[in-house]
Amino acid sequence: MVQTRRTPADYRWVRPPEWCPGCGHFGVLQAVYNAFAELDLDPSRVVLVSGIGCSSRLPHFVKTTSVHAIHGRAIPYAMGIKLANPSLEVVVVGGDGDLMAIGGNHLLHMGRRNIDMTVILMDNSVYGLTRGQAGPTLPAGIKVKAIPKANPQSEINPLLLALTAGFTFIARGYSYDIKYTTKLIVEAIRHKGSAFVQIYSPCVTYNNVMTREWYEKRIYKLEEADPTWDPVVHDEKEVDIKIRKALDKIVERDRLPLGIFYKNELVPTFEERYEAIYDPHYRKLPPAIQPIEVDGRPVVDLEKLLADRIL
Ligand code: SF4
Repeated sequence: MVQTRRTPADYRWVRPPEWCPGCGHFGVLQAVYNAFAELDLDPSRVVLVSGIGCSSRLPHFVKTTSVHAIHGRAIPYAMGIKLANPSLEVVVVGGDGDLMAIGGNHLLHMGRRNIDMTVILMDNSVYGLTRGQAGPTLPAGIKVKAIPKANPQSEINPLLLALTAGFTFIARGYSYDIKYTTKLIVEAIRHKGSAFVQIYSPCVTYNNVMTREWYEKRIYKLEEADPTWDPVVHDEKEVDIKIRKALDKIVERDRLPLGIFYKNELVPTFEERYEAIYDPHYRKLPPAIQPIEVDGRPVVDLEKLLADRIL
């Protein structure tokens, strides 16, 4: 029987999304369906991992294997899954409260390892699930409705953090532009190495300042503003110049560029480095498919395994 290509509907789970009407997260969800369909991903080979927050509910609405983990810990769960079985497509989703605050440290270490996974940040600058407190990406001086006075804290720039941590694919989308966001997610999943996609995804209930209108006055697409824009590192010699070009755009504040800022597949992934240094058969025979017992007797020497592989 000929297997036909999957469609976005093939990834839609029976449970309907439980977000407020108009929430930006609906657009991200549709872009995830579209991207998985465009890549024709086998749902049984995809693992979606999230932490806690409105955005972290997303895996409940997608027909794949998923883990709804604990607050801020989606990335370490995902890294464990990917490293146990590198043939899986592992995608982390979460909000700025989850991935930039309690989970920020994990993001740094994923980046420096360049593990071949994708992180999708659904950024609305508030903690929507707990009624709208200031999130880590809320700019200083902005007063959203749940806080009594303007935010006294400076904001984190997620793309700056990801780029300096070592992520080798950096992009930004906008949830109400589903077609464009789909394209960015497709490219991020195709990328060999750690990919980070920030998606502006307005909270219509609690962020009464950074609304759809607010974003649409500011956003623009890198490649439309500059048809020569090329974020790809084609040669080692280009690394510094491409990083500087990406930084110039990432730090813009009055206007908010969308698109791919940086892409470098010349950096070896963690999986490649591990194979080169520790185990030449790692990706052919990863831990997840190694036998652990024969006739009820354990065949794994855990002490030796740990001694060999503690990094
Ligand atoms: Fe979306 Fe905000 Fe409602 Fe959460 S509270 S579902 S982020 S609109």
